[in-house]
Formats: sequence, structure tokens, C-alpha cells
Amino acid sequence: MALNLRSRFEMSGRDGEPVEVDSHHVRALAARIHGSILTPGEIGFDEAVQTWNAMVKKRPALVIQPASSQDVVQAVKFAKSHHTLLSVKGGGHHLAGMSLTDGGLTLDMSRLRSVEVDPDRRRAVVGAGCRLGDVDRATQAYGLATVLGSDADTGVAGLTLGGGFGALSRRFGWTVDNLEEVDVVTADGQLLRASEIENADLFWALKGGGGNFGAVTRFTFRLHEVGPVITGGNIVWGAERATQVLDLYREATQAAPRELTLALTMRVAPSAPSMPERIRGKPIIAMQVCHTGDFAQARKDLAPLRAFEPVLVTVGQRPYVEQQRVLGGPQPNGFQQYWKSEFVSGLPGAFLSAFRRQADLITAPRSQVILFQLGGAVADCEPAATAFGNRDAEHVFLVAGTWLPEDSGAETHIGWVRSSWKALAPFSTGGNYANAHSGDEDESRIRAAYRDSLDRLLEVKTAYDPENLFRGNLTLSAAQSNGR
Ligand SMILES: Cc1cc2nc3c(=O)[nH]c(=O)nc-3n(C[C@H](O)[C@H](O)[C@H](O)COP(=O)(O)OP(=O)(O)OC[C@H]3O[C@@H](n4cnc5c(N)ncnc54)[C@H](O)[C@@H]3O)c2cc1C
Repeated sequence: MALNLRSRFEMSGRDGEPVEVDSHHVRALAARIHGSILTPGEIGFDEAVQTWNAMVKKRPALVIQPASSQDVVQAVKFAKSHHTLLSVKGGGHHLAGMSLTDGGLTLDMSRLRSVEVDPDRRRAVVGAGCRLGDVDRATQAYGLATVLGSDADTGVAGLTLGGGFGALSRRFGWTVDNLEEVDVVTADGQLLRASEIENADLFWALKGGGGNFGAVTRFTFRLHEVGPVITGGNIVWGAERATQVLDLYREATQAAPRELTLALTMRVAPSAPSMPERIRGKPIIAMQVCHTGDFAQARKDLAPLRAFEPVLVTVGQRPYVEQQRVLGGPQPNGFQQYWKSEFVSGLPGAFLSAFRRQADLITAPRSQVILFQLGGAVADCEPAATAFGNRDAEHVFLVAGTWLPEDSGAETHIGWVRSSWKALAPFSTGGNYANAHSGDEDESRIRAAYRDSLDRLLEVKTAYDPENLFRGNLTLSAAQSNGR
């Protein structure tokens, strides 16, 4: 095994300085844990450090794949005592690649992937390495669900720790509004339970404050009756009708009951067999529909959209699990990604016109501008109830730049995202989604993401991680390094 061939590991220290770790310490750690330790070149290492965004090029020196919470305790103690950089990887989907550090130790949670559903208590206990699809599949076996996003391969951990939204948010709020309890290993190597009654300040911070407070080993979510068959699918128009379709989206979202969530995308139609030939490769505007109410009501609520002469309608009765897998279309690994987002509280005409103009300027065939409907139960809680607030959000917009690594136009595509964001940002509530941050966000964007929660988050950070062991997360460390 590669560990035996080395006398020492050259790693990055917490402030980027080189740290040498004698290999007998690594072997001793390997003997204390049930999970695996991987080094560069070993089978499984490249997969363990793969992230969704191909722009991320970080390469840790060691990967630990814990098999239990106690393994996580050992790994955190190891990083602390050897002063190495530490990062925690859930599903590896964050755009900024914060789940990895160059030369550091990465805790890859992919072996903690169990989901235990208690249908009587309506609770699911979810391992920190689970993907959204793992949870949707397990809970839907009982006709239950919690609030999760729409790409089945995204990590539950990162999504939840950043707030989380999805097609059930209008009924049940942010993902963190459905969190009952968290098990977390803090910087001093203690395994703590955090809930409304135990370590309540830590629990509040974990509800949106990111991975700044410890390594979470499992989450307990509240479940609700959903489906298992719902009404969902896509409705597509040619982009020449964008102005009218955007008005239709505004009217339909204003009239929508909480059971209905719409998302709208403008992009170039893929050359997929599912697309009518006449629109393949042409600019389109599409709505993704998820209606979890009764079927007769869904038919009534969706009638105005169907009547607007789309070129394609795939809306029908389908399993909620399938809907969650296909709503946004497949989102494969391997593309370079640069995104920006803001929350908006309304859709004034000037915003919709600017949104359409930016879609016209798209520079890469897979790039898109997206509007996702929020509101409803999101506003039912007090803003201060969770670290992730943004309770005034009626929609979130995303400007998503996506291109192949071999495309030489990266600067152009990034430039389009930045200029589109600048054109749309004046309509923001002032809040944005830290889970959609790219790697170059500055302190002002981090402050805007957390707004009134930032001071309290920094207090909890000081209490639980005074030496900033969990520093890979851009959310708090940038604000701290600026003298907070
Ligand atoms: C295709 C796609 C679709 C998306 N759709 C949605 C959506 O519908 N709704 C939505 O809300 N968001 C959505 N997102 C954003 C998503 O919430 C974030 O990318 C999120 O960070 C992904 O979590 P992850 O575990 O995969 O990420 P990772 O990159 O693994 O982790 C993200 C951050 O969380 C930290 N972290 C991960 N696991 C732990 C842990 N166990 N303990 C402590 N810290 C940890 C990491 O260190 C890192 O800082 C989407 C993203 C993509 C790429």
C-alpha cells in the first residue's frame, strides 16, 4: 500500500505553510479507523477528489473516507494535531470546490450513505454522504418527502448546510426549516448533537451557515406526505415568444397555490431526441412544472400554460422521484461552470426585459438563465429563525455559464455571466445564495448572503472553532479575514 512506501507526507498547513507528517502517524490513524485512507495515485483517489465543476483543480495530499462518526472524530483530531488544512466533501457539487484543499486532508463522506426512514414519526436519519436521490427514493417508498433540490446527484450535506430549496419549498420552507437534529464533530474532536434543545446556538448556525462549524456526520429531517405520484414535466416555447411567456410566468406564479412550483429557463435547445426537430439548436424558453396537489386541481392550475400554444409539453402524472431526477434535465459532471445568483421579491417588467436581453446574449450552448419560484412557506418563519434567512425571496435567479474544458472561450463565458448578473442585480432583495457562489466572491457578496445573521454566525464560529480549523468554506473565513 502506498502509505508504507513513504517516510513522510508533505502537506499544506493551515496558513498554507508546508507541514511534514511522518507516515507512522498516518499508519496509526489507519489502524484506528474502519474507513479508508487514500493517497494520490491509489485506486479510488481520483474519484474521491472529483468535483462537479471541472474548473476546480485542487489536489489534497490525503483523503479519508470515514465509515462512522468515530472515524470522523479521529480524522478531525489528526488534522488539528498536525496543523494540516482540512476540508469536508459531501456530494462535491459546490461550484467553488470548497470540499477540497490543495495539499490538505479531505474527509470524503461518500461511505456514510445510509437513509433510515421512520414512517410513523415521519423522520429520516440521513448519512452525510447521501445524494438527494438517495433520500427521495427512500422516503418516497412511504409516500413521504422532505425539501430537497432538483438534481438527484447533489450532496444532501452541502445543500442543507447552505439553506436548501426545491419544488416543495413553497409548501414546507427551506430545507433547514425541516431539520430536526444534526450530529456534528466540532474542531475539538467532540461528537455533539445539535437540535432546538441541545447546543441550540450551534444548531441555529448549521441551518444555513455552511460547513464552518464542524464535520456533520448525519442529519435528521422532518417528512411530509407527498405523491408518490404528482403532476410534473416541461413546457417549451420558441424564444421568439419570450416576452409573452415571461409575462405568463409572472401571472402564473402570482396565482399559484403552494402546491405548484414553476421554474423558467432560457437557453439553446439541446439536440436531444426528446426535442422536436424544428427547435433543436434554437433558443427556447421553457417552464418546469411541479404540482403536488390533487390531479384535478393541477389540471385547472396548469390550463393557462397549456393553452399558450407551446411547441412541447411533457407535463403528466409521474412519480415524484422521477420528477426530481428530470426537472432540470441531466446535469453531468465534466463541464466548467461559473454562476451568479440573487433572490428577487417581485418580477417588474424592467427585470423581465433585462432577463430576456441577457438570454439573447448567451455565449455557450449549455449556458442558461434560470428563474425558480419561491415564496409561500419560505416566508412563514421569522428571518432570524435560521442562519439562512432570505424569507423575502419570491424567486431566485441564476445566471449559469457552462462550457466544455476544451472550449477556448472561458473568459467570454465568464464575462457574460458577470455582465448579466450586473444587469439583473439591481432588482435583487439584497440577498443571494451562498450555495451558488463561484470561487471568486468578495466579502460584500458573503455579507449579502447572510445579511443580519452574520454577526451571530461569527459569535458561534468563535465559540466552536476559534482557530478556524474548518476554514475551507468561503462563507465565514473571508468575512473574518477582513477584521471581523
Ligand atoms: C446541478 C446542481 C443543481 C443544484 N440544485 C440545487 C437546488 O435545486 N436547490 C439548492 O438549494 N441548491 C442546489 N444546488 C446548489 C447546491 O446546494 C450546492 O452546490 C451544495 O453545496 C451541494 O452540496 P454538496 O454536498 O454536493 O457539495 P460539496 O461541494 O461537497 O460541499 C459544499 C460545502 O459544504 C461543506 N460540507 C459538505 N459536507 C459537509 C459535512 N458533512 N459537514 C460539514 N461541511 C460539509 C463542504 O466543506 C463545502 O464547504 C445545485 C447545485 C448543482 C451543481
